[in-house]
Amino acid sequence: MAASQRAAMATRHPPRPKDRARIVENTIAQIEQEAEQALAAASRSEQVREISVRYLGRKGLVTQLLRKISTLPIQDRPRAGQLVNHAKIRMEGRIEKTLERIQHQVADDDRIDVSLPGRPAGLGTLHPITQITDAICNIFRKMGFAIAEGPEIETDYYNFEALNIPKNHPARDMQDTFYISPNVVLRTHTSPTQPRVMEKRRPPVRIIAPGKVYRCDSDLTHTPMFHQVEGLLVDEQVSFGDLKGILTAFVHDMFDARTSLRFRPSFFPFTEPSAEVDILCVMCRGKGCRVCSQTGWLEVLGSGMVHPAVFENVGYDTERYSGFAFGMGVERIAMLKYGIDDIRKFFENDLRFLGQF
Ligand SMILES: [Zn+2]
Repeated sequence: MAASQRAAMATRHPPRPKDRARIVENTIAQIEQEAEQALAAASRSEQVREISVRYLGRKGLVTQLLRKISTLPIQDRPRAGQLVNHAKIRMEGRIEKTLERIQHQVADDDRIDVSLPGRPAGLGTLHPITQITDAICNIFRKMGFAIAEGPEIETDYYNFEALNIPKNHPARDMQDTFYISPNVVLRTHTSPTQPRVMEKRRPPVRIIAPGKVYRCDSDLTHTPMFHQVEGLLVDEQVSFGDLKGILTAFVHDMFDARTSLRFRPSFFPFTEPSAEVDILCVMCRGKGCRVCSQTGWLEVLGSGMVHPAVFENVGYDTERYSGFAFGMGVERIAMLKYGIDDIRKFFENDLRFLGQF
């Protein structure tokens, strides 16, 4: 019979006061023994806490017993009280020791076992923007383009003036950026790479310039920093037909051969004529959907024949040479390629998102 039951029975059939003192004595001894066994068997700190509540809690067995002492004959009360109180103190000590033992055990379990095989390190993946940049560059590399890079902190001259965008030109409005000083900016496009390369090299020039660019923009489809890939081809007798051919080959390689292109007249200060390039919507194949705003077409590129003023700024003979340039947003291509509807996902560093590519 458990001490707890015995204690309960003692309440139900009250013995004569004389026997009560002895009953308290026996009961506390049994309760203590029981608690000790339970503690010895405990392997988790929650178990120890349960034991503590069961014996020493407000409704615990020891507490109940202490209350009963007041029913003893007055001369028996001090001794019985002392017995129970001493047992209680011993039990408290054991509970503490048991908790310590369990903590040490947990620490032991955590210790490194050098004989175990190593845990494999999680391999990272390339960021989707890096993957798409690489894919774009590889397609153009196959067509003979070399990679060129320029600084992200750019002078006003290369970012605007060399590209035929003088101060106070309205086109500057669309490319508001971050100014380091009145004449030094974070580049708003990868186009400054064009004059930088042409100043150092005589035609033929055939380059692709990937990199980060910056603008004062932030919403579902714009981030203050994004990526562009710029292309430039300069040689004798380069025509708009060559531009169409190169871009068609690119789009067919990047998406698939069923993706047709549409050239729309547009304006850029550094190309003349200029064209926006749309591709047939990769989601609905031209039927019209939410992504293409029901038009069936998606704008992916800006392009055009290099403006003679840009050639003059770098000292190229405009009679002899002609060329074309184009630029595209890498995030835009990645969103279409992967069906992503919020550009900000690329830069939130959520590994659950990034690990999917
Ligand atoms: Zn569509």
